[in-house]
Amino acid sequence: MADLKLEHIYKVYPNGVKAVNDFTMDIKDQEFIVFVGPSGCGKSTTLRMIAGLEDITAGELYIGDQIVNDMEPKDRDIAMVFQNYALYPHMTVYENMAFGLKLRHMPNDEIHERVMWAADVLGLKEYLDRKPKAMSGGQRQRVALGRAILRNPKVMLLDEPLSNLDAKLRSQMRSEISKLHQKLKTTFIYVTHDQVEAMTLGTRVVVMKLGRIQQIDTPKNLYDYPGNKFVAGFIGTPQMNFFEARLTKEGDVVHTKFEYTDSELDLPYTQLIKVKSSYLDGSKKVYVGLRCEDISIDPEAIKGKKNLIDVKVSHFEELGNETLVYGDLNMQGEGFDETSTRVIIKASSRGSLAQGDIVKAYFNMDKAHFFDYDSEETIKPRIPNDNLVDIEIKNNTITLCDEKLALPSAISVKEFKGSILLPISAINLETKGITAKVSNVELINGTYLIYLLVNNKTLFTTSTKEYKVGDEINFGIDFSQIEIKENNEVLQEKIPEFDNFKANFYNFKTAFAATNSEEFAKEKDERTKAVSEKYDKLKEELEAKFNEEITKANALNYEEIKVKNNELLASETSRLNNELKLAKEEYVKSFKEINKEHKLNIKKIKSEIKETYEKRIAEENANYKEVLSTNKDRDVILLRKRDHTLFKENLPKERANDLENKLSSEALDYDAKKSSITSKFKRLKNANKLELKELKQKIARENNLVEVLNKEHTANLAKLEKERSEELAKVEMIFFFKLQVEAQKYALSPDTITNKLIQGLGSKVFSRVYEIKVPHDAYKLDNEGYSVTVKEILDYGIKKFIKCSFEDKEIYVETTKDYKVGDTLNLSIDYLKTQIIETGMNIRLY
Ligand code: ADP
Repeated sequence: MADLKLEHIYKVYPNGVKAVNDFTMDIKDQEFIVFVGPSGCGKSTTLRMIAGLEDITAGELYIGDQIVNDMEPKDRDIAMVFQNYALYPHMTVYENMAFGLKLRHMPNDEIHERVMWAADVLGLKEYLDRKPKAMSGGQRQRVALGRAILRNPKVMLLDEPLSNLDAKLRSQMRSEISKLHQKLKTTFIYVTHDQVEAMTLGTRVVVMKLGRIQQIDTPKNLYDYPGNKFVAGFIGTPQMNFFEARLTKEGDVVHTKFEYTDSELDLPYTQLIKVKSSYLDGSKKVYVGLRCEDISIDPEAIKGKKNLIDVKVSHFEELGNETLVYGDLNMQGEGFDETSTRVIIKASSRGSLAQGDIVKAYFNMDKAHFFDYDSEETIKPRIPNDNLVDIEIKNNTITLCDEKLALPSAISVKEFKGSILLPISAINLETKGITAKVSNVELINGTYLIYLLVNNKTLFTTSTKEYKVGDEINFGIDFSQIEIKENNEVLQEKIPEFDNFKANFYNFKTAFAATNSEEFAKEKDERTKAVSEKYDKLKEELEAKFNEEITKANALNYEEIKVKNNELLASETSRLNNELKLAKEEYVKSFKEINKEHKLNIKKIKSEIKETYEKRIAEENANYKEVLSTNKDRDVILLRKRDHTLFKENLPKERANDLENKLSSEALDYDAKKSSITSKFKRLKNANKLELKELKQKIARENNLVEVLNKEHTANLAKLEKERSEELAKVEMIFFFKLQVEAQKYALSPDTITNKLIQGLGSKVFSRVYEIKVPHDAYKLDNEGYSVTVKEILDYGIKKFIKCSFEDKEIYVETTKDYKVGDTLNLSIDYLKTQIIETGMNIRLY
């Protein structure tokens, strides 16, 4: 049972392919997660990194609270099921399942108990003695699942496990896997390229494309709220219809004009309230997406409806219970190719429609999706980024949604009237300023989207706290996040999210050589001392334990021990041999019995057949005679004669077939019994062998305990010393990094960052260039660090910044203290708050 966390995981293969790009996701215990996407999108690579079969280039993988990047696959408590079952052909089902546990030296009775449990869960009990080749694909995959669940893994990984099965079996196995997930109550991660599989199995689905996550959501949300055109098109069959269109808002109505056609329709603006106004003036092309079930041509259903559009019918696809009608919005179009006017409509039947007909179709725009033409991202996000608001600045006040606020001194524009984009994060519920009423609340993936009504205008913001419709809220505005633009000219800049620096990393030697800094030397000495002390203590403990054990061992009487052990060995050997002998006798006896039974059965089958067929011949002859003697009708007699001839011709064939079938079924039965008793005997033989081997090892140790302890102690000491020198070498690896600004200063990198960098790039870390993104609250103004000069004080009311010159750069430092222009300050950076990006491959390392 475990949570999983993937943080900024990247995979770059040695050939330079960036297969996985910034994969970040939290997986809760017992979730059923499906990775889905077209072939080559990085699903398997991600799964294999979780399994430990592939190195992680950068990023961190947690299972529970533990980072497992460097952990061996076998230690991760993960089981994996592959597409090709990977069963051992020469082993029975039982042996295939038990094998892994045997390798782990699990006691035989426990292995047996677990195998029987798994066989029970997966309905494999009758097949335990079969070999894989005598089983169907579905049964084999069940064995592979059985082998995986036996080990009681924390996480089950499944890589396209059903793709070798035919459609019917696939759907049956899907429900079995679902059931298995419910029974096991463990985390499942499942890879498939089949969206139907993803939608039916996953509690959450990760849609991937070209190594990047496109969307992580529940199947229903993926279907209802696709975040981009790729997801919209990938999920659902037939694919969603996409039309190119332009949207123009006129009052409360948005006019939709479809490109390359004369089609157009109106929809209420309330449906597009989350769409940025720049999409609503007709200047930008967008994609309108509608699923085939959201378009109707049923004359009854569309009676009295608006939003009707002419469609020229081109062809049909009959699905049995319904029909897909293909057509074109363009009367010159042909409806065959996937163009931006082709349309697929789901209908209950074809009715009297014919190719070339022009029908009215109803577009249910409530269900429509809208995507940017270039980026293909949704323009109607569930949580919008910004609010479009009208403002007026005049006489040192700013009017926003008809509310007046004092103009913060940092806003340099003194007169303005127009609209701005107010990011939803700029609405600050912790501070006061404007009163609003909550008019709607949506819970979206754990975040509340709050609709705030201010003088009849709606503003969006988010909160982790729940609010109710009708609640009154007073909020402040963070003006540092707004930008004022007039005709594309920026009048007021917003504070950028980060200050960006370039930087390099250095090891201790280089940094010390360059600076000769006492401080660095001291740091290294301290670390060296800590390592030495740690290992001295461990060594002391080891010696003490050894002395205690060796004193005890020296006091033992080895003559006595050897005699006792010899006796034990002799008695155990004879017990085990005896057990084996009995088992062998039993085996031979059973063999004889089944051989005898087999012969008897063959005889019985032959005599039964003989009897059956003789009876049939007698019956036929009697009936034949009777018909001939009692019937006068010539036709009846002729027919009866022909039947009789047929009977005579066919009977030997039928009889031979019948015999052969019965004999071969008996032969199969016989083989199954034979293999069952053989494998039972073999199991016991192997278990005996193992038991004896373990006993001998134990005795060898006891008989020569002093020698063994000495040897073990030497090995333990060597291991400890090796670890000590490895850790000492790591002290040399403490990192310093230097921002690429004029000031040539080295800063000690925090260990958390150093460890992540080593994990990501190893020693290559020193030859790369990094971008360090520093948020404005990561600066500390104290007595040490870089020297900066205050250039400007920026008071935004809620937040205050000082703009400082830092060598050849300008930075924004968030502060609550008062400074004056011209002050010289000492500044250091809390690197744990920054983001570190390797610029060559564009990999976020921290
Ligand atoms: P999927 O499972 O989604 O089909 P993969 O994870 O197998 O995708 O592959 C993702 C990308 O990485 C593909 O471009 C593939 O060619 C590449 N790739 C996979 N394995 C290797 C490898 N061992 N060496 C180099 N490139 C690889």
